[in-house]
Amino acid sequence: MSHLPRRSVLAATTAGLLVGPAARAAPPGVTDSWHRLAQGNARFAGGHQVHPHEQLAWREGLTNGQHPFACVLGCADSRVTPELVFDHGLGDLFTVRAVGEVLDDATVGSIEYAVAHLGVPLVVVLGHANCGAVRAAIDLVRGRGELTGAVSTVARAIEATVRATPPDPDEAAFVAACVRNQALRVCAELPDRSAEIRRSRVAVVAAVYDLHTGLVRRLE
Ligand SMILES: [Zn+2]
Repeated sequence: MSHLPRRSVLAATTAGLLVGPAARAAPPGVTDSWHRLAQGNARFAGGHQVHPHEQLAWREGLTNGQHPFACVLGCADSRVTPELVFDHGLGDLFTVRAVGEVLDDATVGSIEYAVAHLGVPLVVVLGHANCGAVRAAIDLVRGRGELTGAVSTVARAIEATVRATPPDPDEAAFVAACVRNQALRVCAELPDRSAEIRRSRVAVVAAVYDLHTGLVRRLE
């Protein structure tokens, strides 16, 4: 995390003291942030990644501060790495990951930091197809499988989503609906759990990543 307060960075930028990636004229808005994510995802899905912001000079320019343009709360699943899925690099995304995008004090606090101290205009709650945590919660509701320890705690955190999702004889469609509903529920809960986020003007949106196409679809 950056230890340089945002106001100090902006003041330094105005004074022309910063160069490279730390020197940004104005923070991006919500629309611009989503557009950048969508453009990067289109490159990724099409196999035309440019892998930006990984170079030595860029890295060195980030040592005194960070200005991520979005915060992504995503599942810890190894196939859904936000920086790869959105084709962005160092300093671009403030990434928080937990299986099933489950909220707890640590995840909420991390997102709060991105919003209140780094000024990100957009938080994306990113669910994904065939999420193992969501499947585990479905098994839990159906009384199948044996979950022990902290894994069962995670599944129980998703249980309400599964119970609120209308049954569907098409199992794949039901899992997909649960995945969407989990992202939407977390999206709705986040402001409830954080006064800082409620007070801010940050936009919190839900989205789902498709493992087959590589595309991220924003949920309305
Ligand atoms: Zn997952």
